[in-house]
Amino acid sequence: MIDLHIHTTASDGTWTPEQIVTGARSLKLDAIAITDHDTFAGYEEAKPIAAREGVQLVCGIELSTKLQPPGAARPKTVHLLGYFLRPPSPAIMEWVALQQQIRHDRNVELCARLAELNVPVTIDEVRARDKSMAGRPHFAAIMVEKGFATSIQDAFDKYLDEKGAAYVDKHDPSFAEGLRQIREAGGIASLAHPVRLNRHGRDEEDLLRQMVKMGLQAIEAHHSDQPARLRDRYEAMAQHYRLAVTGGSDFHGDNKPGVQLGTGREGNVNVYKKHLERLRALARA
Ligand code: AMP
Ligand code: ZN
Ligand code: FE
Ligand code: FE
Repeated sequence: MIDLHIHTTASDGTWTPEQIVTGARSLKLDAIAITDHDTFAGYEEAKPIAAREGVQLVCGIELSTKLQPPGAARPKTVHLLGYFLRPPSPAIMEWVALQQQIRHDRNVELCARLAELNVPVTIDEVRARDKSMAGRPHFAAIMVEKGFATSIQDAFDKYLDEKGAAYVDKHDPSFAEGLRQIREAGGIASLAHPVRLNRHGRDEEDLLRQMVKMGLQAIEAHHSDQPARLRDRYEAMAQHYRLAVTGGSDFHGDNKPGVQLGTGREGNVNVYKKHLERLRALARA
């Protein structure tokens, strides 16, 4: 079994890269990919540890992008996974640094918005928690500690998600730009957790077709938020559009209670090694 969607303390996970690698070894996973948001720092830290522990480690990243569906009022947030960016090229490293700056600007604005709502969270408190990338889950954890929310989910529901009182839009790159960055760096781009497109039936397929036309190469059919029914649906779509299949738990440690490394929610994720072999062949082609 493999797990191609994992976050570490370099982004918004609560396990260090070392804990992820040793965790993967005890679970006897055949391979893992570290896919932190907007940073390779977790992968870089894990690399020598994985070599020492004999764990196969794939270089990955998760990008937040915006896709404008034809005719829709607003763009949709779409997460893109990039794989096999080895070693990350200077061009993509520079681009990722720019994304971190955009994130930082959003975070400063989010602090101001929260202050207006009498929920004081300072940018220093946020920065104290991350190494290279701070996101809304860090805000949520601070809010729980300070008693402004009862759980991470509660903090998102009340303040942080798109319908929350303090929501601040992040100036994410377009889907086309994210895709281009991954592909120009020699990587494979996969649509993360398609369930979050939050569309059904034909609408969802129209969106996927739009992405495939733009150059999407794979789809994350296996994900801890996708029950077997959806996994089968996305596997069928992958076959129909000739996409490779990726899968992973989207493990975040304590920031996503109920999701286990390698196996997702109550074992709903079990991704076979053959998917990685296909991806690897695609990356070489
Ligand atoms: P950011 O990239 O800083 O905007 O934070 C996005 C991250 O927050 C996502 O990758 C998820 O891990 C988490 N997240 C987003 N929306 C929610 C939500 N409604 N409930 C819980 N976690 C969420
Ligand atoms: Zn995350
Ligand atoms: Fe995501
Ligand atoms: Fe993720």
